[in-house]
Amino acid sequence: MAYERSFVEVARAPTGALPLDQPPSRSGHASDRRCRGDAVVDLAMTDDVIRDAAHHVRGCVMASVSASLLAERVTGLHAEEARALARGVADAIAGRGPLPDGFTPLRTVLVLPSHRACALLPWTALLDALA
Ligand SMILES: [Zn+2]
Repeated sequence: MAYERSFVEVARAPTGALPLDQPPSRSGHASDRRCRGDAVVDLAMTDDVIRDAAHHVRGCVMASVSASLLAERVTGLHAEEARALARGVADAIAGRGPLPDGFTPLRTVLVLPSHRACALLPWTALLDALA
């Protein structure tokens, strides 16, 4: 079984912060009043495939960890695959299904329901970028 980083490891070594090294092809935004946070996700795309992803998140560490995982996971995905992944993560955060493979660090969020909105922010921004 592949080694999975813990929540704390991702929190200590965040990845994918803005800016991209090229102008974004698409950009999305989301905000949440409860979390008092917001997220921007920029995508570099060719032929509907995400070549690179970067984010800027203001909010708590849950939002930041979720954004790091997003930036790592969506690179190389077709837009449709990325939308499906975003929906899968959102469902898991809402307690309607298992977390997709590689999202173990987000288990921490599932036991802290008050931070679910924070963890969702970057994924909502991604769906906005792909809308
Ligand atoms: Zn939070």
